[in-house]
Amino acid sequence: MRLLLIHADELRYWVTKKAIKEAEELEKKEDGFEDCLVVFWASEKSDEENLDVISKNAADEIENVARQINAKRIVLYPYVHLLFGAEPSTKTRAIELKDKILDLLKEKGFEVGKAPFGYYKGFELKCKGHPLSELSRVIGEKEVGEEISKALKEEEKLKSYWYILDLEGNLIPVEKFDFSNFKNLKKFADYEIAKVRTVEKEPIHVKLMRKLELADYEPGSDPGNLRWYPKGRLIKSLLEEYVGMLAVKFNAMEVESPVMYDFEHPNLAEYLHRFPARQYIVISGNKKYFLRFAACFGQYLIMRDMTTSYKQLPVRLYELTRYSFRREQKGELVGLRRLRAFTMPDMHTLVKDMEQAKEEFLEQFKLCLKWIKDLGLEFEIAIRFWREFYEENREFAKKLVNLAGKPALIEIWDKRPFYFVMKFEFNVIDTLDKASALSTVQIDVENSERFGLGYYDEEGKRKNGLLLHASISGAIERNIYAILEQEWMKKEEKGKMPVFPLWLSPAQVRLIPVSERFNEYALRLSEELEKEGIRADIDDRNESVSKKIFLAEEEWIPYIVVIGEREMEGKKWKVRIREENGKIVEMSKEELIRTIKEKTKGFPFKSLPLPKLLSKRPKFGK
Ligand SMILES: [Zn+2]
Repeated sequence: MRLLLIHADELRYWVTKKAIKEAEELEKKEDGFEDCLVVFWASEKSDEENLDVISKNAADEIENVARQINAKRIVLYPYVHLLFGAEPSTKTRAIELKDKILDLLKEKGFEVGKAPFGYYKGFELKCKGHPLSELSRVIGEKEVGEEISKALKEEEKLKSYWYILDLEGNLIPVEKFDFSNFKNLKKFADYEIAKVRTVEKEPIHVKLMRKLELADYEPGSDPGNLRWYPKGRLIKSLLEEYVGMLAVKFNAMEVESPVMYDFEHPNLAEYLHRFPARQYIVISGNKKYFLRFAACFGQYLIMRDMTTSYKQLPVRLYELTRYSFRREQKGELVGLRRLRAFTMPDMHTLVKDMEQAKEEFLEQFKLCLKWIKDLGLEFEIAIRFWREFYEENREFAKKLVNLAGKPALIEIWDKRPFYFVMKFEFNVIDTLDKASALSTVQIDVENSERFGLGYYDEEGKRKNGLLLHASISGAIERNIYAILEQEWMKKEEKGKMPVFPLWLSPAQVRLIPVSERFNEYALRLSEELEKEGIRADIDDRNESVSKKIFLAEEEWIPYIVVIGEREMEGKKWKVRIREENGKIVEMSKEELIRTIKEKTKGFPFKSLPLPKLLSKRPKFGK
């Protein structure tokens, strides 16, 4: 919506002719106002989606101006020419918008008037001419919060019931479960039931992501959009590659879809309003787009145009979204845990019927278990059901907890929550006892039909089938958060040196020459190690050996080797092993190579993302 505000001594108008058939009823053929704020207004197409928000924002802005210039009387005057070629909203919506604004201004205590909409008019205007007497404003959805909070409130209205499902298949109300052997499950249940999402204290990983030169906030962007330094980028890209490898091995087909979608798309609009995500809006030309919050839409639209036979089901599409966008509330944004732009592997599976959906769900549950165990993360399981579905599938639920080998938190809704009948998530608990979801799979019973997805059955008839949504790992950034937090917890609770999983460590081996004389030999060694798929770097800086060992430990380097005369002569190396809390173990070069190769087997490898010589490296971050 666009406004031109003029503080006037006088406005007079007179109607000459009706201009459009939707013109509003004419109350007065001519009228005049003295000492008033005249608001010329025009409503554009994009206002239609959010009349409530736009009218509120417009009324607030008009009030602001009126208070500044001390105007008590406000007159709204329709003036479509303010759009300068942008697409206008429909006439009826424009009238509706104007009426809403008039009502709001009345509520704010102003005397209001208007010129009729839909007529040719003559007018005379006498502007006061002081510095604030002519202003223009573009009204958008700067406080998009409102529409969205409606959706969130819907979610809150869904009453849920909390239980623990044990390995015998007993569904025990949370308050009756004995948590004495399940401390983390207790923390998780408490967190989930309280549903407090704001973060008062900074979790430790924020300090660590900076200290380890992984990532940092980017003040030049919107909050929750981060910058990544070479070491962080390496870790992130290895995780991205690995999750993609798992998906492809699982027979998913990798695709790529756009990051933004038409707000007006007939299928999407309805879905958008039900989905409680907060959207980034992009205005381009006359059109309004939203940035994707997952790959759902992109993959639906691909699936809709696919020709699929029942014999080919289940059919799985996979995409690593970089990025998915959610305008989370500012108070909820923190470090790598909750972002506004994040990287999420997203897989959608089209299945024939509920039986196949359950089979597939089980397989995807196993795949997620593999992921989280490969990362060495401690996790708690939440499984959420629509009650009716749970009652019919008790055995199925029991099978899941047995596969994981531990009890799970169960949430049960009386009403069907949105479009799914069940889903699970693996959650990690951080040093502040907050929980975050990683892997997740949902059975969706609505969107296949809504978006016209489907397959051809035995008789050649088109059927919709059902959909599964899966993120094998959850947000990649969040996995790094989980590793940092949990490693720190091990240090605090067990005195263990924190370390990255070996395949993710930016440098796996640090070579420390005792003097400059050994630099070249160390360089040759590092190249040899690289050929074996091992990242090694060399601290050639002008520091004492003990200082260099200390610095390597500060960097969480898994293996530290001091290189001197003995080593060059081919004697056994003295290797400081971080995983064993810095214990020094004698091993030959070949033994070290074998150890690392065994531990990183099956994981992707990338070369060192920085110069091998530490003296050549800039320091990242302030
Ligand atoms: Zn999805």
